[in-house]
Amino acid sequence: MTGRGCQWDKCLFCSDVISVSGRTFRTRSVESVLTEMQEQAQRHDTTNFLFLDLKLNSWPEMLRGIAKGIGGYVQGAEWIGTVHVDLRQDNGLSRADLQAAADGGMRRISFGLESGSQRLLDLMRKGSSVERNAQFIRDAYAAGLSIRCTMFKGYPGETAQDMMETVRFLEEHAPYLDRVRFNDFSLHTGTPIWQAMMEKGGVDAELRATHQDERRARMGYRPTTAPDRAYRRAKLRALDLVYQINRRKVRNAARQFDGLM
Ligand code: SF4
Repeated sequence: MTGRGCQWDKCLFCSDVISVSGRTFRTRSVESVLTEMQEQAQRHDTTNFLFLDLKLNSWPEMLRGIAKGIGGYVQGAEWIGTVHVDLRQDNGLSRADLQAAADGGMRRISFGLESGSQRLLDLMRKGSSVERNAQFIRDAYAAGLSIRCTMFKGYPGETAQDMMETVRFLEEHAPYLDRVRFNDFSLHTGTPIWQAMMEKGGVDAELRATHQDERRARMGYRPTTAPDRAYRRAKLRALDLVYQINRRKVRNAARQFDGLM
């Protein structure tokens, strides 16, 4: 890990910034990270690294610094990590940054796409845009990176129209995506969306809390109204696209990391 927490720290559904890392972002220096990589490479006789940061581009200089510097510390290093395609002018994920990362040994890049609907991204306070996600995917693919994303279905307020926008996004970007994890929405304890719901006595316009799942630190729920036919149809289409993407082989360069994260 190059740092703890997430510089954005605002997604309403996110449990990571609460349960794992506290609510502030702090980073190590690039040199400290590179020195540790050198030490770990010798200790474990490896050149493969997996970064566990919630957002490896919280401080864009970290991503650029690893890409530029790692060759001087670990020859032939290959690595993977997770980013957030945020809307800062410099989010560390420009076409040039992604190419430099690939040239510096990055093999796979993962990110939370969540939805193809801008309305829903805004509802989640995701701090990203459909347009910027699309550009990022194209640039990362052109740089030769294997791309993975997580998404979820059933976010409170999601409509058939939102799901159709997700379908269109997946249709358009399927050729560039190596893997998609399409989860059901989870209502994690302590998240802002959970708090808002608890303040309303466990029920809001879209969801009704059913039981506390202590082991998974989340709340069970039921939608207050059953999804309509158009929504169900769109969801099936999205699932079909995800299935088609996930059964393909991943890009060769990233095969050694298959099964990890
Ligand atoms: S960008 Fe990722 S880690 Fe940061 S708040 Fe959003 S979901 Fe959580």
